[in-house]
Amino acid sequence: MDSDYVNSLFDLQGKVVAATGGGGVLVGELSRGLAAAGAKIAVLDIDENAAKRVAEEINAAGGIAMGFKVDVLNKESVAAGLQNILDRFGTVDILINGAGGNKKQATTSPDLSFFDLPQDAFQWVFDLNFIGTLLPSQVFGKFMAQRQQGSILNISSMNSYRPLTRIPAYSAAKAAVSNFTQWLAVHIAQEYSPNIRVNALAPGFYLTEQNRFLLTEASSGELTPRGQTIIDHTPMGRFGDASDLVGTTIWLLSPASSFVTGIVVPIDGGFSAFGGV
Ligand code: NAD
Repeated sequence: MDSDYVNSLFDLQGKVVAATGGGGVLVGELSRGLAAAGAKIAVLDIDENAAKRVAEEINAAGGIAMGFKVDVLNKESVAAGLQNILDRFGTVDILINGAGGNKKQATTSPDLSFFDLPQDAFQWVFDLNFIGTLLPSQVFGKFMAQRQQGSILNISSMNSYRPLTRIPAYSAAKAAVSNFTQWLAVHIAQEYSPNIRVNALAPGFYLTEQNRFLLTEASSGELTPRGQTIIDHTPMGRFGDASDLVGTTIWLLSPASSFVTGIVVPIDGGFSAFGGV
C-alpha cells in the first residue's frame, strides 16, 4: 500500500455536492470544507440570500459553488433544484440533508407546558427535520439509483439517541432521521446499488441560531443553566465548533468509507459516552 493510494481514499476532487440548509451555520461550514477538498457545491436553502452568500464565499476562496433557493418541503422545488444542478454541473454525486431546526413554540417552558404545545408548531418541527430529509432523498436518490452510485449524508442529532428535555418534537424528528438513515441504507443497497451509501452525523451541541435562546441568556450572553449542564456533561468541556464536523464528513463521503453505510456518527465531545459520574 503506497501513500498515493492512501491519499486517494479521501479524494473528493470534482465530486458534485448538493447541500440543503447550506446557508446555515453547520452545513455552510461543511460546504466550505468540502469545496476546499475539491468538490463542487450546490448550496441549497430556503433563504436564497444565505445560500448565495455561502456560494460567493466559496467562489471567492477559489472553490466552485452556486447557491439558490430550494424548499425541502416542496418536492417540485427540490426537483427544480436537481435540474438546476444538472444544468450547471452535469451530475450530482452527494446529497447532504442539512436543512433542519427547532422553534420556541415547540419547546416546553414555564410559560408553555407540554399539554399546551400547539400541534402546528410540533408539526412544523417534525416536517422540517424528517419530511425535509425524506423529499430530497426521494428526488436525488432516484437520480443516484439511475446512475448506480452516490452518497447521502443526513444530519441527525445527539437527541436521537436519548431525548433531551423540553424539545419533544425535535427529539422525535431526529430519532426518525436516524431510523430512516438505517432504513434507506438497507433499501437502496439491496434494491438499487451497493454503491449508494446513506449515513448520518449526530452533532452534539453547537451554538447556532436555532438553540442560542436555550443555551445562552439573550441579555448577557452568559450560559443558561441548561447550557451549563451540557458543558458539565461534555467530557471535552466545550460546545462543538462547526469545523469539528468537516473531517468526519469528508471520511463519510469519500472512498475511505466505501464499506460503511447505515451508520450515525456522534460528533459530540464525548457527551453520548458519559454516564454523568
Ligand atoms: P441553521 O439554522 O444555521 O441552519 C439551518 C438552515 O436550514 C438555515 O439556513 C435555514 O434557512 C434552512 N432551512 C430552513 N427551512 C428550510 C426549508 N424548508 N428548505 C430549505 N432550507 C431550509 O442551523 P444549524 O445549527 O446549522 O443546523 C444544521 C443542521 O444540523 C440541522 O438539521 C440541525 O437540526 C442539525 N443540528 C444542529 C445542532 C446544533 O447544535 N446547532 C446539533 C445537532 C444537529
